[in-house]
Amino acid sequence: MKKAIKCGKLLDTLNKKVLTDQVILIEDDRITAVESLRGFEAPEGCEIIDLSDKFVMPGLIDSHVHLAYDKSTAFFMRDAAGTVMVDTLMRAKKNMLAGFTMVRDCGCVHYVGVSARDAIKKGLAWGPRIAACGWPMMATADIGFAPHITGQLSPNHIVDGVENIRQFTREVVRNHVDFVKMMVTAGVMSPGDEPGGQRYTEQEVRAAAEIADLHGLPFSCHAHGARGIKTAVRAGATSIEHCTMADEEGIHMMAERGTYLVPTIVATVGIAEQPKGSLPANIFKKLDICMAHHKGAVQLAVKEGVKFAFGTDAATPGNTHGTQTREFGLMVDYGLSTMDALLSATVNGADLNRVSKDLGSITPGKYADVVAYSEDPFDDISTMNRVNFVMKGGEVYKRDGEALYPITL
Ligand SMILES: [Zn+2]
Repeated sequence: MKKAIKCGKLLDTLNKKVLTDQVILIEDDRITAVESLRGFEAPEGCEIIDLSDKFVMPGLIDSHVHLAYDKSTAFFMRDAAGTVMVDTLMRAKKNMLAGFTMVRDCGCVHYVGVSARDAIKKGLAWGPRIAACGWPMMATADIGFAPHITGQLSPNHIVDGVENIRQFTREVVRNHVDFVKMMVTAGVMSPGDEPGGQRYTEQEVRAAAEIADLHGLPFSCHAHGARGIKTAVRAGATSIEHCTMADEEGIHMMAERGTYLVPTIVATVGIAEQPKGSLPANIFKKLDICMAHHKGAVQLAVKEGVKFAFGTDAATPGNTHGTQTREFGLMVDYGLSTMDALLSATVNGADLNRVSKDLGSITPGKYADVVAYSEDPFDDISTMNRVNFVMKGGEVYKRDGEALYPITL
């Protein structure tokens, strides 16, 4: 099936510029050509999709979501494992209808992210492309969850010691994951007074990094505190998730080594917006500490030329699946240019996930993953909250702002 998309404006993510009056030619699920609309004649039998009054760009990539959860990790504990799986697929669809034709599932129970990825790949369900890590690793002394939440119940797998970590990383790899994830420092939602406290030693982090590397997999490290961030970067992290309290030395190291920063600003902002009393007071106290540093860390990273990948932690309180596009506005508010915010969710997301051959730009040979907006995000970044058109692999899922399939299908 041949399709041609007439584009009023088209974001060229490889050359960092906006082109006008272009046409994207598509055959089946791939782009075959991008050419000037002037003098274009549609090949016979070609369906014309007219987006000549729209801003068109590659499908978005959110490099940090949790499809198995929503609003918090607590709710999944009341559900059967199978229910968690069904809900995971439903949330994947919400992400895609918000413009994310690919998401990186940054931690789940029961490897449901892997199963969701495969179900969508086989055509058993519709949804975005998924990169999944399965169970993230968390140290015994990390009090992210109550002490009795262990084993199959724990959203993060509890493991420590170099040998145990090597063994568990191998087990994760055996479950057909796309990357490996480790909680190097404590988080915001855990009880305790130090949100950035380091929980794994450098040798432990390195053990996971080495096994991930043997298998050619990216290694993602959750880290808030300056010391934990530097440990993770030194030990071989591909990306630092959150990175709220990075110091100058850490940011410098990330710039030098090409470590990605996945800022997830909407996660902290979403929690801060929750009514006082709806969450333990301690969480708000820790959040204040993180937020006091986060903007400065992001600004420093922009100045030092650190690579950013768009990621939101969709699933945290006030940050539900399908609404995380407000991260774009927050990134601009924290100091990124509009162009850099858009690149973080396209070409950079593809690079972090090692899928640049297929995604991240509107280029002949790549998948026809395309989104469009009625307004120009360079005029108003909030237009990213109102995706008008979504295509994945040459199939249209949203047109004129209306979903073509219900999310329950
Ligand atoms: Zn997360």
